[in-house]
Formats: sequence, structure tokens, C-alpha cells
Amino acid sequence: MRQFSERRVLVTGGSGFLGSHLCERLLRDGCDVLCVDNFFSGSKENIIHLMDNPHFELIRHDVTFPLYVEVDEIFNLACPASPVHYQFDPVQTTKTSVHGAINMLGLAKRVKAKIFQASTSEVYGDPQVHPQPESYWGHVNPIGPRSCYDEGKRCAETLFFDYRRQHNLRIKVARIFNTYGPRMHPNDGRVVSNFIVQALRNQSITVYGSGTQTRSFCYVDDLIEGIVRLMDTPDAFTGPVNLGNIGEYPVLYLAEKIIELTGSRASVVLKPLPADDPQQRQPDIALARAQLGWEPRVALEEGLRKTIDYFARTLQR
Ligand code: NAD
Ligand code: UDP
Ligand code: UDP
Repeated sequence: MRQFSERRVLVTGGSGFLGSHLCERLLRDGCDVLCVDNFFSGSKENIIHLMDNPHFELIRHDVTFPLYVEVDEIFNLACPASPVHYQFDPVQTTKTSVHGAINMLGLAKRVKAKIFQASTSEVYGDPQVHPQPESYWGHVNPIGPRSCYDEGKRCAETLFFDYRRQHNLRIKVARIFNTYGPRMHPNDGRVVSNFIVQALRNQSITVYGSGTQTRSFCYVDDLIEGIVRLMDTPDAFTGPVNLGNIGEYPVLYLAEKIIELTGSRASVVLKPLPADDPQQRQPDIALARAQLGWEPRVALEEGLRKTIDYFARTLQR
């Protein structure tokens, strides 16, 4: 029989990069974890080490279809996050964000679960306010190649707040800024994984545009800590709250740093800048500091070293 202290937690997108780290962390915290994933951009490899844990369960399922399970908390992470993956089938990306959110909110409503949404800094688009506070409404192209993701995530936020207003759901919305670390998909096209894989293979490092565009890179362990703390805040606190590292770097600097840390013989080649690529991005994390007592601890170089170690091991296999 179930013990009353047990938290039954659903993690959608649980076999992806962030989801697998979250499942691991929740198991460590004593939860019963149900991982739901359709393996579009995630992989069984990411969670294979959890499969023989009796508190871990996996369901292959697409969140755009209804899901009937009994849980106490839901972490909704299902959605491809890399531009290459989310632009591969843009209609499915919007469906995942919007229909997926509706289904998970409907589930939360039925079972009275608390529900977390993995939103994104992309809701700010190509921002004209810098750094970006949660009060900024953003600068988003509604009809461009990134829109399936950006607008899908914006609509998901709308749904979360409407379910809160209409049905009094307990919601938690985090706007996640670029996060990196072990278990990123080696071919998913995101900048940190691309550069590390290219550097380790001594292939050209593909910098898009002039490389002056900036991003702020958060190590995965820091981000997971932020998500867990957000979920534990009092019900009155819903977010949206930015989660990310304030260390902001030009993409060209990242390329050079990775070449240095890997000791690679690779050199940088410039490629065309993709459409609507945001020029600068840095989270204002004052709200997270105040409400969650949270801030990232892992410096870029330390996080990159850990990520490089991971890719060096997996690429050898
Ligand atoms: P990821 O692609 O590694 O993980 C997403 C997971 O969702 C994958 O396992 C994928 O198979 C699964 N998925 C996709 N569509 C699905 C569907 N319809 N039904 C069920 N599962 C589905 O990406 P990630 O970096 O781990 O991102 C996780 C979440 O965090 C995403 O919602 C993403 O938008 C958000 N996020 C991530 C970042 C980041 O930098 N990593 C930044 C902002 C927001
Ligand atoms: N839903 C689900 N699991 C549940 C309850 C609901 O997947 O346990 C889905 C259901 O298919 C519905 C959606 O969530 O389409 C929204 O549910 P809600 O109750 O808010 O709306 P309604 O059922 O009235 O459309
Ligand atoms: N980028 C790059 N080379 C790559 C992959 C990405 O220069 O091989 C750039 C990309 O144009 C963007 C930044 O790195 O300016 C971050 O890209 P990513 O896809 O990781 O995330 P997002 O653009 O969604 O923040």
C-alpha cells in the first residue's frame, strides 16, 4: 500500500536532457517518478540507469493525446528544445506545447495536482530590454521559423494562468534560459553540444553570424535545483520566474573557450546567422533570488569541463 509520505510525480519529457536529470533528482528526494516521453528528441540511454529502480516507471506516450494517471505533481517538460529539433516538424512543436499543456492541465485539474511548466527565455524573443526581467512582454515574431516554439510556449503560459484563474490550479512557471550539461543530444544542434562535439572531433567550429550574439549559459545541476525549489514554494507563488545564469558571453568567446579546454586542433568557421536569432540574452534573476533563495553556483569553465568529459566518454563508445 502507498505510504502517505510518498510523492507521486509525473515528468513529461522525462527522457530528454533536462527531464532525465530531474527524474534522477526526484528519485533521490524520495519521490515515485512516472516518466512520460515519446522519444522524439529524448533517448532511453538517458534513463536506462533508472529502469531497475522500483520507484521509477516509464510510459511511451505523446502528450498531445490525453493521459489518465494518478499523480500528486506534474513537471511538464515535453517539447523539443533545440532549434533544429523544434523546426523539424513545427506543427507538431506547437501541438506539443499547446495541446500538451491542455492535456496536462486537464490532468492536474482532475487529480488536483500541482503543475510545473518548463517555459523559456524564448518568450522574450529578440529582446529589446536587457537583461530580461519577468515583467518584459517580449519581442517575438509570430510567423517566423522560431515561432512554433516561441508562440507555442507563450500560449502554454497563457493556458497555465487561465487554468489558475478559472480553476484555481496550483501552477509554477519557470522561464528557463540556455542550459547545458551531460546528456544533451550530440546532434541536437545547440551551441554548447555542437561546439564540444566539433572540437573533440577536430572538425570546424561552426559559429553562426559574426559570433557577437550573446547567451547566458546555466549548468544543468543549478537549473534542476531552481526547478525543485520553485515547486516547493507556497501556492501563492506561481511565477513566471526566470531561471538561468547571469554570466553572458558572445558565441565566439564560447567557441574559443571550448577549443582551449579540449585542446582541439579545430578552428572557427563563420556560417550564416539563422533567421530571427536573438542578438543578446541574459536573465534578470532578482525574483528567483528573492523567492527561491536561488542562484547558479557552477561557473562556465567548470560546467564546460564536466560536459566535455561526458561527450569525450560517449563519443568513444
Ligand atoms: P530535450 O529535447 O532533450 O527534451 C525534451 C523531451 O520531450 C524529449 O525527451 C522528447 O522526446 C520529449 N517530447 C517531445 N515532444 C513530446 C511529446 N509530444 N510527447 C511526449 N514527449 C515529448 O530538451 P530539454 O533541453 O531537456 O528541454 C526540456 C524542456 O525545457 C522543454 O520543454 C524545453 O522547451 C525547456 N527549455 C529548455 C532549455 C534548455 O536550454 N535546455 C531552455 C528553455 C526551455
Ligand atoms: N485530460 C487528460 N487527463 C485527465 C483529464 C483530462 O489528458 O486526467 C485532458 C482531456 O482530454 C481534455 C483536456 O485534458 O481534453 C482538458 O481537460 P479539461 O477538464 O480542462 O477540459 P474538458 O475536458 O472540459 O475539455
Ligand atoms: N550557434 C552557433 N553555432 C552552432 C549552433 C548555434 O553559432 O553550431 C549560435 C546560434 O546562432 C545562437 C546561439 O549559438 O546565436 C545559441 O544557439 P542555440 O541553438 O544553442 O540556442 P538558442 O538560439 O535557442 O538560444
